[in-house]
Amino acid sequence: MSTTQTETAIWDIETVDPAKALEIETMRGNVASNPEAFWLEQAGRLDWATFPTIANTSSFEGDVSIRWYEDGQLNVSVNCLDRHLADRGDEVALVWQGNDPGVSRQLTFRELHAEVCRIANALKSLGIRRGDRVAIHLPMTPEVVACMLACARIGAVHVVLFGGFSPEGIGERLIDSGAVAVITCDAARRGPKTIPHKVTIDAALKHTGSIGSVKNVIVVNVSDTVVPMLPGRDHDYTALVSGQSTTCEPEIMNAEDVFFLLYTSGSTGKPKAIVHTTGGYLVWAAYTVDVTFAAERGTTHWCTADVAWITGHTFVVYGPLANGTTTLLFEGLMGWPHAGRWWEIIDRFNVSSFFTAPTAIRALMRDGDDLPRRHSLASLRRLGSAGEPISPDAWLWYYEIVGQKRCPVIDMWWQTETAGPMLSAIAGAQPLRPGWATTGIPGVCPSLTNEKGEELVGSGEAEGCLCFNTSWPGQTRSIWGDHKRFCETYFSFSKGRYFSGDGARRDGQGYLMITGRMDDVINVSGHRIGTAEIEDAVATDHSVAEAAAVGISHDLKGQGIVVFVVARSTRVPPSEAHLTKVISERIGRYATPEKIYLVAELPKTRSGKIVRRLLRKIASQETDSLGDLSSLADVTVVPALIGQVKEQFQPA
Ligand code: ATP
Ligand code: MG
Repeated sequence: MSTTQTETAIWDIETVDPAKALEIETMRGNVASNPEAFWLEQAGRLDWATFPTIANTSSFEGDVSIRWYEDGQLNVSVNCLDRHLADRGDEVALVWQGNDPGVSRQLTFRELHAEVCRIANALKSLGIRRGDRVAIHLPMTPEVVACMLACARIGAVHVVLFGGFSPEGIGERLIDSGAVAVITCDAARRGPKTIPHKVTIDAALKHTGSIGSVKNVIVVNVSDTVVPMLPGRDHDYTALVSGQSTTCEPEIMNAEDVFFLLYTSGSTGKPKAIVHTTGGYLVWAAYTVDVTFAAERGTTHWCTADVAWITGHTFVVYGPLANGTTTLLFEGLMGWPHAGRWWEIIDRFNVSSFFTAPTAIRALMRDGDDLPRRHSLASLRRLGSAGEPISPDAWLWYYEIVGQKRCPVIDMWWQTETAGPMLSAIAGAQPLRPGWATTGIPGVCPSLTNEKGEELVGSGEAEGCLCFNTSWPGQTRSIWGDHKRFCETYFSFSKGRYFSGDGARRDGQGYLMITGRMDDVINVSGHRIGTAEIEDAVATDHSVAEAAAVGISHDLKGQGIVVFVVARSTRVPPSEAHLTKVISERIGRYATPEKIYLVAELPKTRSGKIVRRLLRKIASQETDSLGDLSSLADVTVVPALIGQVKEQFQPA
């Protein structure tokens, strides 16, 4: 056992409430003894046109078929809006804080319902029908939520695309998804900048050439930017939508009809279009938000993720709205126009549940403790983190400085493929442990396997590949247009299990810690080390803002470790010798890195994840085969890193 593990173990934070612990234990018992009854009961969280009589008919064998609630029928927008009209129609569904601190808007369930119906009618007027794919390429404005729900209302399949994608990135996704329409805007506001959305879409459509299926482009006016409009294809949103009726009969969908496609972040390679269907997804969204974040009526929930990621779909839009809670949408940037912007928003709108990613937490930590301390933050009740492993030091900072030791920090592990959190601490039900994604939520059966895909049975200490033994309602049904790749990627590694691609360690109590992606595991002289273990060790040093570890081939050891470190302050950067000592002391001498590079920035995906596959190539100086760069947030980081490695690399 390494020092890192011993130290995290003594940080257990006891916040157990016996009533909550019993409630969750009872749920676990119920799902274990009769999963079918348990999941049918969870279906009762929604209003169905036809209530399902069967829950799970999935099989992980052969051609893999994931099916939930297959004889049920429902409409997602009805569940997020119509059914709340009678008793909470005038409560706020959506709080919108604009990029400009002086601009905000609140929409009640009734107002959002009217807008969604108008857009749905407008889409129908363009001939868009059930099953058609509609790409949504909008910034974080109320229209993005309304357009997603409008697609849901008419049974169109939305494909939300991140605003910052290049024309090539968008073009590829439009072709791959076969979108018939795109909803975009003139130009988006991001801090002091304007991002030319419409120009990007025009270029993307040129890129897709004659095989492009897009017939209509709807343009929302976000920033009064004049843009060229192509007659017959392009439509002004206001002109198209404003005259429409505020009622629109919802399309009754089968539970297994495709609801949306969403591309993964692209950390490990080319992004994949993940397929989610209607009934199972929405039950899962409603269930997971409520179980992990207690979606109480009248509270405000703020998940900072862009709606173009799975966390945005489930924790910004569908989960909160299906539960009838208020969701906050922020158009702007974290540190603009001043570094305390997020804290100001929490106080202004009395946010009670706040959810963000480790990359943001580390950036906020870098700004120091004073900023959050200057704000009240008294409305906060729960803090969440997902997207990457959160190092214990960042977890504790979040807990002590932001949550004022009052709010549990809930580290949740999920994927685009899982649609919602699978591993998560449940506040009150178990002690919290910094750096550990804890356990499967009730109904989820995680397991660990060795590299051959054989289960490491029991619940004792082990380290291996994170798999799941049974299906869950929000499980992805396929990769769009490539079911073979779906079966191979997730089900061929371990027979009868879903393989996540991530590694995890289990302690004696069954708690799980994510050690990094299996593709990134470093094998030094037979010691297998997860990237998160090394990164956590470096991050404990106060001089370090963030770090990424990769393996390079080594003649004697098989692989050697290379670490890229971003210093907290450029005035007093840490020395390589000091950081090397930190790592070998905290993990062991075998983990002594070959080289530590102090760099200005790490390559990240647009969803904020470190792209280690690229760092591995750069560290090995294999720079002529860098692979797909379309998912990178800032490509200019790459040549800077290549230059630095070339200059400082000393062959062993
Ligand atoms: P691609 O699949 O295209 O390579 P991606 O895996 O980064 O991209 P996402 O589906 O957005 O795309 O991210 C899921 C991954 O994020 C998980 O497999 C895991 O590696 C990481 N992750 C998410 N939440 C956590 C968490 N709480 N702790 C550790 N890792 C996490
Ligand atoms: Mg992935």
